[in-house]
Amino acid sequence: MTKNEAVLSFLDANFADAKCALHFHNPFECLIAVSLSAQTNDKSVNQVTPALFLAYPDPFALAKASVKEVEPYIESLGLYHNKAKNIVNLANALVNQFDNAVPLKKEDLLSLPGVGIKTANVVLAECAGVPAIAVDTHVNRVAVRLGYAKKSDEPFTVEKKLEKQFDPKDYIKLHHQIIAFGRAICHSQKPECARCGLHEHCLYFKKCALTTDK
Ligand code: SF4
Repeated sequence: MTKNEAVLSFLDANFADAKCALHFHNPFECLIAVSLSAQTNDKSVNQVTPALFLAYPDPFALAKASVKEVEPYIESLGLYHNKAKNIVNLANALVNQFDNAVPLKKEDLLSLPGVGIKTANVVLAECAGVPAIAVDTHVNRVAVRLGYAKKSDEPFTVEKKLEKQFDPKDYIKLHHQIIAFGRAICHSQKPECARCGLHEHCLYFKKCALTTDK
């Protein structure tokens, strides 16, 4: 079995049902939820978005709000002032440039204020089924440990390196499975390597084993 086959097989066996942990019902909610998730966990975002989306159900409603009005809805999240400012700006751009809708083309998404490649990829994958491996902290860490990317690589480079290795039909599933794997087993601190079936392919594990052997 090749390394890539081993990775796919291990992830399929252990994280078959992995999916986006953020809750949303349409591209607008998806875009806002992903924007709010920066440096915060998805669970915290899911706790604030129902009331936020009830108050501001579309870009037009959110664009009319002031930052001060939006802040109380998201104040349990870190950096809530900046995030409130960002999502109001984002809503204004959607109203002014895209007729109150979320565009589902990468270049259009990337033209929106505060939308980077990771957010664009998640929105495209979740809302339009466009194959992409969005690179967050978990995907980045696992890719480096498994030798698909270097520690010094930018997220865009990690994305391209991963995409080169796998079939596009697997990108979206793989993205969710790697995140689930990173959260459950391959933690940033003290990964639970005893529960992992990828030792043979893991640079991090081999390095630790060598250090322990000395
Ligand atoms: S062996 Fe450990 S560090 Fe390597 S991928 Fe598995 S859990 Fe992560």
